[in-house]
Amino acid sequence: MTESSRRLVLAQRPQGMVDEDVCRMETGPVPEPAEGEAVVRVRWLSIDPTIRTWMDDAPGYLPPIELGAVVRCGALGEVIATRSDRYPLGATVFGMMGWQDHAIVDSGAATAQVIPDGVDPTAALSIFGVTGMTAYFGLLEIGRPQEGDTVVVSGAAGATGSVVGQIAKAKGAGTVVGIAGGPEKCAWIVDELGFDAAIDYKADDVPARLRALCPDGIDVYFDNVGGVILDACLANLALRARVVLCGAISAYNDRGSAHGLTNYTALIARRARMEGFLVLDYVDRFAEGQGEMLGWVLEGKVKHAVHVVEGLADAPDALNLLFTGGNTGKVIVKVDEP
Ligand code: NAP
Repeated sequence: MTESSRRLVLAQRPQGMVDEDVCRMETGPVPEPAEGEAVVRVRWLSIDPTIRTWMDDAPGYLPPIELGAVVRCGALGEVIATRSDRYPLGATVFGMMGWQDHAIVDSGAATAQVIPDGVDPTAALSIFGVTGMTAYFGLLEIGRPQEGDTVVVSGAAGATGSVVGQIAKAKGAGTVVGIAGGPEKCAWIVDELGFDAAIDYKADDVPARLRALCPDGIDVYFDNVGGVILDACLANLALRARVVLCGAISAYNDRGSAHGLTNYTALIARRARMEGFLVLDYVDRFAEGQGEMLGWVLEGKVKHAVHVVEGLADAPDALNLLFTGGNTGKVIVKVDEP
């Protein structure tokens, strides 16, 4: 093969947002597969807040991205050359392929999954992908909402939070409150997605609104943001509440300034449980979650939005959208031609 292949590598560790110095575009030949490998033409990138955490030189659930390495990222693409029985020519596959035009997948390590024909790629990366499954397993396995419960979710107009609220309704929650930034997002989750109420954390008094909307306390709080919003929810828990620690996006750009929780002793008084959750622990059960999700989607009980950014070179800007709140729903990059 003689065509060229682009890759965005981590040139330096970011301070705050990902600016133009953080990533460097490199070009090289399209790779050839060795025995047991396949070459994938990457078409769609899943843009997730956790990518920003991998850019820091700090301990996490995966090692930091090394300087000079391709930025790690879940992606969907098509097998264009193969020496692997697992990845046939033309198959659509999902895996940690990174911000690049071409990736090698390895059958020995089973680094990618084949996606069935006919699945819309943006749906495969959102509602049936990592964020949809995060909402599903995080809420149902850790939050365990009961009929009539009051459920609160932050990041409520994002890929994960928007689905959490709708699953809670589908499972019979009594009141579902979403916390999101700005009047448009708040209107969308109530008017389009069926949340019972929204709190605009950029304009409202969050503790006062929580007390008003959840007079008997919060039974399940699904936390996507951490910081002062988590603290405000802790102050308003119901007896035996469950707090799902899914993410803390308010701290990803500046770990040093993370808010120290002052209301965690409410967990004692309310005999509540706060538990961290990683969707990676549920990969073996994705088919179960995807099956139930498909039913809700077909019944119109769960809707989703995607925010598509065009072009590999704009992947850093797409990542930044998650931190400025420039997205509604799942951020995906459509990779262009080199
Ligand atoms: P997303 O919600 O689609 O996008 C992130 C949203 O966070 C933005 O749209 C923005 O919405 C909000 N936000 C940004 N900075 C904020 C701040 N300082 N305070 C409050 N809200 C802020 O992203 P996602 O992919 O679905 O991820 C949501 C969370 O889930 C993240 O924390 C992510 O790390 C976590 N996650 C965890 C797992 C896991 O396995 N534990 C898996 C996937 C995702 P507003 O406009 O409303 O501010």
